[in-house]
Amino acid sequence: MEIAYWAIGWLSTKDGPGNRVVVYMQGCPVRCPWCHSPHSRFDISPLLFQKRLCHLCGKCEAVCPNQVHKVTPTEHFIDRDKCTYCGKCIFACPYSTVAASNSALSIPTVRQDTSELFELLRPQLDLVQKSGGITLSGGEALLQDKAAIEFLKLCRDYQVNTCVETSMLLPDSIYQEAAQYVDCWLLGFRQVYLPQDFESQTVRSNCKSQVAIFRQASNPRLIARLPVIREYTDREEQLCTFRDILLENEIMELEILPCNPHMNHYYELIGKEAELDLNQCIPSNEELENILKYFRHAGIQATRIN
Ligand code: SF4
Ligand code: SF4
Repeated sequence: MEIAYWAIGWLSTKDGPGNRVVVYMQGCPVRCPWCHSPHSRFDISPLLFQKRLCHLCGKCEAVCPNQVHKVTPTEHFIDRDKCTYCGKCIFACPYSTVAASNSALSIPTVRQDTSELFELLRPQLDLVQKSGGITLSGGEALLQDKAAIEFLKLCRDYQVNTCVETSMLLPDSIYQEAAQYVDCWLLGFRQVYLPQDFESQTVRSNCKSQVAIFRQASNPRLIARLPVIREYTDREEQLCTFRDILLENEIMELEILPCNPHMNHYYELIGKEAELDLNQCIPSNEELENILKYFRHAGIQATRIN
């Protein structure tokens, strides 16, 4: 079965216990305004364009069957809505190669059979077998549930520790199927609302039923993750709701992830405006320390990532 991903992290220490090989998968049902990989939301990434690498030669315009490109002596306009992902412009461009980060044009999505991906990663999996393992991240890794499970099973059979990051917003049936192949869950709470909000109640009940599923299947390690976006996820009532959800479910490990100031990068590449001015959303070190103390005071082992 084919699996679609947009990047591989060869040796990450921020995506699960120890050293991780990370597969960043395509597709996400959530639209967090602070998302730093907006191209991962879709089944296939939109065409990425790095203006600084374009020499305005017009070769892409000449080959595109859908008039996506319009190149003038001073500007390169792109109408991505018309793109059908044929890749002709990338092959024609002298400054591009398929899925390369230093290309003027690229579509980073790779579709590959799960067994081929496993063979590709096998040397790295050998390296991390004793010091970490494999992590499926997103987008939302389990949006491709069948392929993800098939791949996790291969890794498990090879005795590699498996970790999956999830938004916890998918149906229980998916978690039920995946749970027996997962050693560690990264529970990515995207946003925690006020206690009375409908969304907060959904997060709360999802968490309860999914954690029960995880524990029944294999008693895995559970690590909650909270993005700290100033004025969006750091209000006291939100932190209080979040803390209560963790304690109710005996999730005693938490990683907080400060707002990523470099998130504008991919918005520029897909020609969209970022939804938030993230420079205004970066918490200070003192604010982060206070959040860590808040959770530690409740007995939760809280650490900061980055
Ligand atoms: S991928 Fe194909 S359709 Fe899309 S812009 Fe390039 S040539 Fe045009
Ligand atoms: S072919 Fe490449 S370098 Fe030439 S205009 Fe298109 S993107 Fe720019």
